[in-house]
This record gives sequence, C-alpha cells and structure tokens, in this order.
Amino acid sequence: MEKHPAYIRKSGSSSLSGPTTIKIIMKQKLFNELVNSIKEAGKELKMSKVICTKCNAKMEHVRSGVYVLETYEDGVTPYKVWSADRYVCNGPECDTELVTGFGSGPISQDFKEDFKEWVTKCEFKFR
Ligand SMILES: [Zn+2]
Repeated sequence: MEKHPAYIRKSGSSSLSGPTTIKIIMKQKLFNELVNSIKEAGKELKMSKVICTKCNAKMEHVRSGVYVLETYEDGVTPYKVWSADRYVCNGPECDTELVTGFGSGPISQDFKEDFKEWVTKCEFKFR
C-alpha cells in the first residue's frame, strides 16, 4: 500500500531535526550539566579531608547514614535519633574512629510514634 503524500509530509515534520527537538536537546544538555555539577559538589563534600591528630593518617569515610542516639543528661534515657557519617583512621596501628556530619535536625525524637523503632537502629550514642 502506497503512502499518501500528506502522510509522508506529516511524518517528516516530526523528525529529529526540527527546531523543537533542538530546544529539547539543549534543555537536556543544560539539565545534564546541572546534575553533573551537583554530583561534583557532593563528591567534594564527601572527599573533604579528615585527618587523625593522634597518628597523622587520613581518616576514611566508611559509611553515611549511621544512626546515633542522643540521650538525656542521665546518659540512659533516649532523647533523639540522628543520622551521621562514620570515619575510621587509616593508620596501621591506630583505632581512632569518629562520627560527624550530622543532619540539621534529628530523624526522630522521643515524642514521636516511630521513635522506639529508630532507637533500635542506633549504633552509637552520646548525651
Ligand atoms: Zn590515627
């Protein structure tokens, strides 16, 4: 079956060389550049150097999303749960570890319904 000339023209106008397509490609390119610069900024944040003052070695970022329990002054009663980053020292004979990079607010707090569940996920605590 032969194609009608009008149909051919119509399909031709929706080819990938139209001005609309070029605009979309440009937008996509800008979007990709934006995504890449955000990724780079994130990498820089994670790569920021942390050094051990005990043995002068670099500390390694081993994990993000470490849950930390903040207690009341008694050091026992759970108060807040935070998410943070854990670092360990790369020094051959050093056991220094630290937890830093806390978020701007806690993940949960003692008056919230999900609090007890978050407390069970905590690996470290402080008061
Ligand atoms: Zn060390």
